[in-house]
Amino acid sequence: MSERHASSAEIASPAQYAAPRVSVLLPLPLGGAYDYRVPDGMQLRPGDFVAVPLGAREAIGVVWDGAPGEVAEAKLKPVAEKLDAPPMTAELRRLIDWVAGYTLTPTGAVLKMAMSAPDALAPPRLATAWALSAAGRAALDGADLTATRRRMLEAARDAPPLAAKELARLGGAGVGVVQGLERLGYLEKVSVAPRASTELPDWRHPGVLLSPEQSDAANALVAAVERAEFSVTLLDGVTGSGKTEVYFQAIAAALAAGRQALVLLPEIALGVQWLDRFVRRFGGRPAEWHSDLSQAERRHTWRAVAEGKIPVVVGARSALFLPFPKLGLIVIDEEHDLSFKQEDGVIYHARDMGVVRASLSKLPVVLVSATPSLETMLNVEQGRYRRIHLPARHGAAQVPEVQVIDMRRQKLERQRFLAAPLVSALEATLAAGEQAMLFLNRRGYAPLTLCRHCGHRMQCPNCTAWLVEHRFIGKLQCHHCGHAEPLPEACPACGETASFAACGPGIERLAEEVVARFPGARLATVASDTLTGPRAVAELVRGVEEHTIDIVIGTQVMAKGHHFPLLTLVGVVDADLGLTGGDLRAAERTFQLLHQVAGRAGRAERPGVVYLQTYMPEHPVMKALVANDRDRFLAAEAEERRQHHWPPFGRLAALILSGPDDESVDFAARAFARSAPHLRGIEVLGPAPAPLAVLRGRHRRRFLVKAERGVN
Ligand code: ADP
Ligand code: ZN
Repeated sequence: MSERHASSAEIASPAQYAAPRVSVLLPLPLGGAYDYRVPDGMQLRPGDFVAVPLGAREAIGVVWDGAPGEVAEAKLKPVAEKLDAPPMTAELRRLIDWVAGYTLTPTGAVLKMAMSAPDALAPPRLATAWALSAAGRAALDGADLTATRRRMLEAARDAPPLAAKELARLGGAGVGVVQGLERLGYLEKVSVAPRASTELPDWRHPGVLLSPEQSDAANALVAAVERAEFSVTLLDGVTGSGKTEVYFQAIAAALAAGRQALVLLPEIALGVQWLDRFVRRFGGRPAEWHSDLSQAERRHTWRAVAEGKIPVVVGARSALFLPFPKLGLIVIDEEHDLSFKQEDGVIYHARDMGVVRASLSKLPVVLVSATPSLETMLNVEQGRYRRIHLPARHGAAQVPEVQVIDMRRQKLERQRFLAAPLVSALEATLAAGEQAMLFLNRRGYAPLTLCRHCGHRMQCPNCTAWLVEHRFIGKLQCHHCGHAEPLPEACPACGETASFAACGPGIERLAEEVVARFPGARLATVASDTLTGPRAVAELVRGVEEHTIDIVIGTQVMAKGHHFPLLTLVGVVDADLGLTGGDLRAAERTFQLLHQVAGRAGRAERPGVVYLQTYMPEHPVMKALVANDRDRFLAAEAEERRQHHWPPFGRLAALILSGPDDESVDFAARAFARSAPHLRGIEVLGPAPAPLAVLRGRHRRRFLVKAERGVN
């Protein structure tokens, strides 16, 4: 090092004669960064966005850190342009490097997630507006104007330049009048930067009066924000304990310190209710970031975040990669939620990467949940995360009573799925003018269709899965690959006609039963395929809030976050549904989901009750729900995993081999098994048929790689 210094001071090295070069990372799943020549007069630093030639086209990338490579001078192409956009911060570049390293993904693929609104890199588009011209001003003083025209010109005089429509509205006439005045030369077109369309949140806006417990919790979070150091706090509180109000205080503290705040929510919970509460608390809206945004919204938000003009973003997991220049707080609400894990493309867990971002940027992160994940609880136990506990619901609201209905002892009527105790509870609820929710995590009409004559089951041609009947649209559908076909007239196996029987309930079938039993009740049936995104959920939520709906039948879309004061009864139609299948987190997830569903009941003065229909009343999940003893359940679950070295006590990765031909996949899997490494602390299990042994026409074999923690 010092040697090179000395020599370069005396003799000019060839490198100094060569043109300066930079390495540019492109948002593509390539190896690493590429080298480019810096043209004369262009100043570039790491983080700058640049346009560069790539093959025959031009691509946009980021000047990356580190020494450029050794590409021959003659092959080097020049950077085409430095874009007029705020550079990517060093902090975000480090996050991208870190995520790429941890998830074994090309850095460019991670960069792509951080450049998800590419046209935001162009300068903001100007909007056209109409303003009073000099001639117009003179006309106002002298000319003979109609009353309408005079009013319009006065409006233009008194307001800033406005879009034609807005000006027309202000002047109390149509757009035609504005255009007429423009032709006369009294109004002229000007270009203006688009205005921020909404009020910004203001931390000075008064919030609710917190209870003493809530205050203590809020103060601890505020202190963490003010220290502006890395810290992880779990805000652990029962549903309805006011966790949201508490972390709002931490957001207020970040804003007061001139920093930005990011709230990650499961996509589905990103509803109107959360936004309404935010507006009530802060008098302005946060920016939203989720899959339901238009291109224009994305472009605007991305750019405004990068320019530090947006104080609060609430978003789904992808918001983690937004270019905040002065982030002061990350909140991850419903931290246990499955949807924070991205399973395709770059496979990452937004909760964990949120903690990484906080650590790289030295800021506090708050994980929020009524049913924290085992991973997070272990981190609390080991002292890595701090825990703040809110044990009681706010105000008069009580945690609902949970009862199991032992389905082994119930006699169901034919083609009926609601047991007698649940039916009477529904009757009583409706009679009291209250609302009920029936939860069944299964879309469609029936999960299985079989031929009564020969027993043939309607199966997906591409997957190891039954076809689900969706009677409403008259189709059989595969929920894994999307294959859809009409229900055939005759059984494809035996040719018998009119022989099909629907087996088991989906929510459409449940709706049929509810309509038959409660013809007067106003019913809404909700699933992810009927509600496409936060805006569609909004309408339904309003319906429940305004009590134009008596009974909601829903899948897990309805499980989260909502606060409905009149909803006092929750019936879980098949509580065992999530417990089958081989997922090691099946029990934990079922507990979390059912606990959350149960938490919808009795959130205000009226007490709630929850019925679980189950064939396994002795199962630890059911017992924990009835006893409202989350911690004992988690302890037992943790013990079980500890014994088997399952996560979070060990590491586990699934390796899936797939191909169109069964035999060659088997062959490859056996070869793979023979070359598996024999290393201390690592165990390779398999090959075995993967869950869904055939998926989208591909045959799948799975290996599980189990490792002790700390093995690298
Ligand atoms: P959680 O997020 O823990 O489920 P919330 O923050 O949603 O709880 O609070 C539940 C309900 O109680 C909300 O309607 C909220 O506005 C209300 N609430 C909570 N704390 C207070 C408070 N201190 N004063 C008034 N209302 C409160
Ligand atoms: Zn399929």
